[in-house]
Amino acid sequence: MTGTVVSSSNNTFVVRSDDGGIARCGLKGKKLKGAEGFYNPLAAGDIVEWEPASAGTGSISALTPRRSLFWRYNEKGKAIQAIAANMDVVVCVTSAALPPFRPRFIDRVSLEPASGYLPFIIALNKTDLGIDDEVAERMEDYRRIGFETIELCAATGMGIEALRERIRGKTAAFVGQSGVGKSSILNALESGLGLKVGEVCEKYERGRHTTVSSILAYLEDGITRVIDTPGFRRLAVRGIAPVSLGACFPEIRAAQAGCALGPRCKHIDEPGCAVLKSVESGAIHEDRYESYARILMELEDTRSYTRKIGRPRRDDGNMYGDE
Ligand code: GDP
Ligand code: ZN
Repeated sequence: MTGTVVSSSNNTFVVRSDDGGIARCGLKGKKLKGAEGFYNPLAAGDIVEWEPASAGTGSISALTPRRSLFWRYNEKGKAIQAIAANMDVVVCVTSAALPPFRPRFIDRVSLEPASGYLPFIIALNKTDLGIDDEVAERMEDYRRIGFETIELCAATGMGIEALRERIRGKTAAFVGQSGVGKSSILNALESGLGLKVGEVCEKYERGRHTTVSSILAYLEDGITRVIDTPGFRRLAVRGIAPVSLGACFPEIRAAQAGCALGPRCKHIDEPGCAVLKSVESGAIHEDRYESYARILMELEDTRSYTRKIGRPRRDDGNMYGDE
């Protein structure tokens, strides 16, 4: 039977079959083909083949190739962790204030959707707290480079209808740092959505002691699905070849064709670098370039840096910290 992974905890996966039935499944073998090298074999949204066993249980025999994947680098597990699969759009929830707007976090979240040409929406929540000029300027630049933006206030419901319309009939993965109001937005989208998510957890005894995984839930319209991901503090990036990083930034991708070194240019100090010229002219926002340079450094330096300091780089508490 074919089914969709709704949630996971350790090596138990809640699978929803196409007829709407729910089963708690383990893996058939020790390893699942197609999931090798990952910290976790399956994420919410994965499509799997599974065989039913006794009432309400089953075993997963195959993973259908993912058409999209949101992942992070798990710093403890030292491996890529699949967070959400097969979504049509990634919604990065951020707040205008409390906690402060974090463009560097947004830039990290955008890497995977931008490189895979997956729609990416920056949802600015808590707009009732006011939008600083600097925040407005960055939002404008995100639109300029092709990202979608939406202004929300979960507290009053402002923008929620527009968001609902935008994701109707799609699978939308919601990603955000804790405290930005992701749960409030999901609950505003559909009252009780949080509850429904909670029920899945309780029913399958995920409890508080297990790692919180992403959870896929259907909206009442039956055609829209949301994947709620855990609130991240920081998104570490690995597994991207340094020379491929430029392609994860739409505006750098557009400019780098003109670099004298061609595809070998990393846009740091190379002669004839078209990206550096674009930063100078303002065609590439200097803060986007700064994000690029920091991530490049993280990709190149992680090993020696970790050896020296024992943990990845952290930034001070201003708006431009990586966290
Ligand atoms: P999550 O950690 O991202 O899921 O955030 P929550 O949904 O738990 O919200 C964190 C806090 O922000 C709560 O105290 C919410 O009441 C508050 N909050 C959420 N949305 C808004 C909003 O639009 N405006 C204001 N002022 N506060 C909000
Ligand atoms: Zn260059």
